[in-house]
Amino acid sequence: MKKRIVVLGASGSVGSQTVDVLIQHQDMFEVVALAVGQKVYFLEAYLDKYPLKYACVQLYDDYVRIKEKYPDTRFFYGDDGLISLTSLENIDMVCNCLQGFVGLLPTLNAIEHRCDIAISNKESLVAAGNIVMEKARLYKVNLIPVDSEHSAIFQTMRGNVRKDIKKLIITASGGAFRHLNRKQLEKVTKQDALKHPRWNMGAKITVDSATMMNKGFEVIEAHVLFDIPYQQIDVIMHPESIIHSMTEYSDKSVIAQLGVTDMRLPIQYALTFPRRIFNSSEELSLTELGALTFKSIDYERFPLLDLAYAVGYLGGNMPAILNGANETAVDLFLEDKISFLDIEKINFEVVRLGKEIYIESPTLEEIIASNDWAEKKVKEIINR
Ligand code: MG
Repeated sequence: MKKRIVVLGASGSVGSQTVDVLIQHQDMFEVVALAVGQKVYFLEAYLDKYPLKYACVQLYDDYVRIKEKYPDTRFFYGDDGLISLTSLENIDMVCNCLQGFVGLLPTLNAIEHRCDIAISNKESLVAAGNIVMEKARLYKVNLIPVDSEHSAIFQTMRGNVRKDIKKLIITASGGAFRHLNRKQLEKVTKQDALKHPRWNMGAKITVDSATMMNKGFEVIEAHVLFDIPYQQIDVIMHPESIIHSMTEYSDKSVIAQLGVTDMRLPIQYALTFPRRIFNSSEELSLTELGALTFKSIDYERFPLLDLAYAVGYLGGNMPAILNGANETAVDLFLEDKISFLDIEKINFEVVRLGKEIYIESPTLEEIIASNDWAEKKVKEIINR
């Protein structure tokens, strides 16, 4: 029996690589539905080659046009369309490769439909971690991490006893500006920020890597996914990005997962878990690499990582506020409306203001309201 798969955010960086893996292993998987945003050409290229029962696009106009062109596929559109795709019967796994807060409701809906999720949408785990994990437990749904660090931790936890974990060690490449000091950061441009030294990813996450907000979110994501206290989650600099993360146990043994920097590895593992199968990815040659290097994090150089820990400790609706602020700030940076360092300033200020609307155990509605509140605050800050 083939595993029946739905991919949300299929035209994005992780999404398109997920589709690659699924096409390479057509003997194991049936792609039942794909959702794309505005890159409709991606969906058309797929439909020209492969059959597809269901698909979703973001805009109504695209929906009207594409459903004429491919009458054998049933189309949906918009945020409701994502809910329709995660409500389909007989699906084995939803790959949530959406980017941003928009991924939250489809995650929750897939869980309610008792469908396992390969999750690369970290924002839904950051903003509403408790709600997502509680629901996953209630419906007995597996959330398999796709983020390379969390996939590594997930793998290094297997075959061990959870309570023996001493700490999680998340590795960080340092992003595009790891060699620059704070002064030099004042002048960096959007083009500079979009050049990641190791990973080829979408624009938002590449900027988040340069600010280290991404690593901060990964700390929160690890806390949520693995239920490990923040005091037991460390981040270290590892520029080669070969060790994807590690787990240290009470006997001080450290187990690491290594691999070339190719997102198709963690994507494929999430799809085939617990099996491991062949792929066309490069082989890791440690002798060619010669050395792996490590450094401790300079939290003054990367203050957003520090902020993520602080926000994580506070919990409640604060991660949703930070996520909302950051998403809006990064959009503004990508539209050339604010500078690189403004992203930091805005995140700090919105978190400071957010403490006034702190909610310890927010409902889903309060999480959504906190995210919207943060977005509004960012706009107020830049317009004053
Ligand atoms: Mg990552």
